[in-house]
Amino acid sequence: MIIDGKAVAARVRAEVGEQVRALAARGVVTGLTVVRVGDDPASAVYVRGKRKACEEVGIRSVEHHLPATTTQAELLELVARLDADPTCHGILVQLPLPPQIDERAVLEAIAPAKDADGFHPFNVGCLWTGAPAPRACTPFGVMRLVDEVGLDLEGKRALVIGRSNIVGKPMAAMLLERHATVTIAHSRTADLEGEVARADLVVAAVGRAEIVRGRWIKPGAVVIDVGMNRRADGKLVGDVEFAAAAERASAITPVPGGVGPMTIAMLLANTAALAARSAG
Ligand code: NAP
Repeated sequence: MIIDGKAVAARVRAEVGEQVRALAARGVVTGLTVVRVGDDPASAVYVRGKRKACEEVGIRSVEHHLPATTTQAELLELVARLDADPTCHGILVQLPLPPQIDERAVLEAIAPAKDADGFHPFNVGCLWTGAPAPRACTPFGVMRLVDEVGLDLEGKRALVIGRSNIVGKPMAAMLLERHATVTIAHSRTADLEGEVARADLVVAAVGRAEIVRGRWIKPGAVVIDVGMNRRADGKLVGDVEFAAAAERASAITPVPGGVGPMTIAMLLANTAALAARSAG
């Protein structure tokens, strides 16, 4: 089974649209504010995509585009204003930030109750301790894909490859919460092939083209490929050798069209949930 991330993301957007309309009926206009600093071309594309998705589901999106020379104090001042603005339910500061700005200080300045990306340390703590809070969008989207496949994680061996704060670590927490036996692999892992061969679920979030060979996959395993890599020939590929892995896996995500569309859909879901909570 090839997991159709576009179709699942469309379903998530439809659900969020209903929530947003229900809030509107109570007089609450769900609002997401996106802050972009500088002129990183990839960030411009990502922000455009996020704002377009907001429009589609009825979320009011506002963008603050600041010059690359913005100081940390200026950015923190804007975040403080947004924290206090009742019409803004979710705040997203697009990364990366210019070198004069301390990313961690900015992410920590966002009120946890407005943290649309789920990156605030308070919300990360909520995830690990089982409290409801916005969740990092990419792993949150992976969980939705795993549920769509109908994989019961209880007692299964789940392997997460990658330990970043935005994908690998929160991914491991979400799988653990669902009673999987979780292994986290990273660049110092001694025997990646052996780890993959034991796993009932593989989530690859490395950023290296086809590093996970198809022949390593345990027959019947579910494979979720978060990686997005541009090959020398221009083709966009994942971290998993797709064709060979698809022959062994029971279900697998393609790249593109797998995890990618889910990330923005879960951002919308986080924003609607924040608006609902702020409206009581
Ligand atoms: P990252 O911060 O660079 O983390 C990569 C992780 O991979 C690190 O933990 C690193 O280990 C590990 N790694 C590197 N080489 C390895 C190897 N040979 N064997 C095993 N592990 C290895 O990247 P990220 O932000 O998590 O993103 C990972 C990938 O997902 C990228 O391709 C990115 O473009 C993609 N991504 C996609 C979406 C989406 O919406 N589809 C969203 C976010 C990210 P160490 O910690 O030891 O260095």
